Amino acid sequence: MFTDQSCYLFNCGEGSQRLAHEHRFKLSKVEHIFFTHTSWGNVGGLPGISLTIQDVGVPNITLHGAPGLGDLFVAASRFIILKDLQVNHIDATNPESTFEDAVMKMNYIPIMPDETGKLPRSATNSPIEEEDVTNYYSREKGNPEDVPAAKRTRVEKNGDMNPSSKAALAYICRLHPKQGMLMAEKCVEFGVPPGPLYGQLKAGQDITLPNGKTVLASDVRSPDDPGPVFVVVECPDESYLDNFVSEPQLRKLQRRNGATELDCPKVVVHFTPIELTRHPKYQEWMGGFDADACHMMLGFTKDGEERRGFGSLAVHRIQHQLHLLDSEIFPHLPFDLRVDGEPEHSEASELDCQTLTTYYLRPLKKLDLSFVPILKPQEYVEESLSQEGFKLSLEALKLTLADAVPISNKAYPKLVFLGTGSCIPNKTRNTSAILVELEKDRFILMDCGEGTYGQIVRFFGHERAAQVLSNLVGVYISHLHADHHIGLIGLLQGRQHSIERTKSDAGPLMLIAPHQINFWLKTYHYSFERIRQYYTLVACANLFEGKTPDPALITGLNLKSIVTTHVRHCPNAFGVSLTTADGFKLTYSGDTMPCLSLIDIGRDSDLLIHESTMEDGMEVEAQKKTHCTTSQVILSRCVTRCPYSSICF
Ligand SMILES: [Zn+2]
Ligand SMILES: [Zn+2]
Repeated sequence: MFTDQSCYLFNCGEGSQRLAHEHRFKLSKVEHIFFTHTSWGNVGGLPGISLTIQDVGVPNITLHGAPGLGDLFVAASRFIILKDLQVNHIDATNPESTFEDAVMKMNYIPIMPDETGKLPRSATNSPIEEEDVTNYYSREKGNPEDVPAAKRTRVEKNGDMNPSSKAALAYICRLHPKQGMLMAEKCVEFGVPPGPLYGQLKAGQDITLPNGKTVLASDVRSPDDPGPVFVVVECPDESYLDNFVSEPQLRKLQRRNGATELDCPKVVVHFTPIELTRHPKYQEWMGGFDADACHMMLGFTKDGEERRGFGSLAVHRIQHQLHLLDSEIFPHLPFDLRVDGEPEHSEASELDCQTLTTYYLRPLKKLDLSFVPILKPQEYVEESLSQEGFKLSLEALKLTLADAVPISNKAYPKLVFLGTGSCIPNKTRNTSAILVELEKDRFILMDCGEGTYGQIVRFFGHERAAQVLSNLVGVYISHLHADHHIGLIGLLQGRQHSIERTKSDAGPLMLIAPHQINFWLKTYHYSFERIRQYYTLVACANLFEGKTPDPALITGLNLKSIVTTHVRHCPNAFGVSLTTADGFKLTYSGDTMPCLSLIDIGRDSDLLIHESTMEDGMEVEAQKKTHCTTSQVILSRCVTRCPYSSICF
């Protein structure tokens, strides 16, 4: 929500930052974020956004939501280092709490689940047995003492979890009233002479002109705006539904229950999952509002039905352009946006919201779909073709490609580079993730930055993505920098939905990661949502050369071998080399400076995937940031006697 002075966010899912960047929303203006429920779908973008707004110098931010929200930062404090950003937290379930600023007044309405929504108590008393105290940025940012010690430990035990932390929150927001404006042309029409009479009319007083005629303020002023009401709600699942539809303060806003024109919300924003909004009780509840109220549906669909929600044009533009180079390597993406020339979205009061769907509350201009991105494939192609020399270069490339010798005669592995954009996602590149299809329908991921789940859906479309995710047997995390693993929770949840949807019998996936990741995942599990059952952790350090890997890992991934080694980047950073059942050897560096032990385990690889964050000539910078330059990578490739390398930067 925007006003002249301020900007508010309601929820902040994965990918928020990337979309904001593409569509030029200044996140630096955000001072308040309101959460309708503490679920990954609502908070997954928060770690990334916090780091970014800290970098641009925002001094503090206030999170409004259920208690425990702040624990997210406690759990993430090893890799989300917030030194300059003060994060405040307002417990919106506290009956005393309200919010008011120069723009609006807001009431928080907590809604609890019924008994079935209660958390099962864990048998263990202290589920978090090991705390990670590593500072993963110590080499880059000075000494480890930079991390405030107070943030170190305070993780609630499962049994002690504050029941209010499960609350869903509805926000009733009322803009402050605004006086009508004096209309100069009307004053002239009524013969008001310039001077103090204008001021009186402006202040709402009726006046008498020198000729004895009376002018009413209401004749020359636009009507006062009493302050429209809008509501933001989420009913997370059926266990909340009865309490949700009977919530008295929300019912008071319904025309059916006698709400006055003033109290009837103009807009109701629903973060409720789409399937649940179709529940007869929910529909009945929605029907109670004014017939004019605009219902904006932003909920997630669990069954993955096609929705147009990704909202990025940049991704399609570059993919259409790359498609010119090679249509197989760069296939067209499924269209998640309206293509130019397709019929317009039909006018409906229950609006299936898309990126940049806009509603003007003041002045009340209602809905505006003119900003919603529309794809123009022809334009993107022409943009490339019209560049000088492009067509000739393209022909030359095609000839070269026709003569190219394939890396191997094997059909697998197949790789999809889902994210090569280093630590800050930009319009066209996501944070780190590489999808490897080891053999037909057996996938693993190498790293899993923010938005990785979204990238999979974006690339494959909903149907195929569900199959891919159900067949995802492992995730490898190279190190604990946020841009390499913060997408994991979203991925685990997305995979679970896919498994349910495809009725697959897939079990938990193998998570090969620095074992310190446990602290983050377990804390999330015990404080927020249950995710532990979705993965089995295999510590990277248990896969060093000479150790015998867990047989379940080898059979689960169907590998001949898998070996890891420490690399030179941050504490607990690893490189990995694996050989498929078919004998293809693949080595992945993660982030590292030139590293001898990686060369050791990577010797005679068929393919080396190596980071190269810095260009040549930036050796000093690369060393400082513990990354590689391009030439250093090529050198490593030669030493490993590896015929092919793929460079990520
Ligand atoms: Zn990185
Ligand atoms: Zn890193």
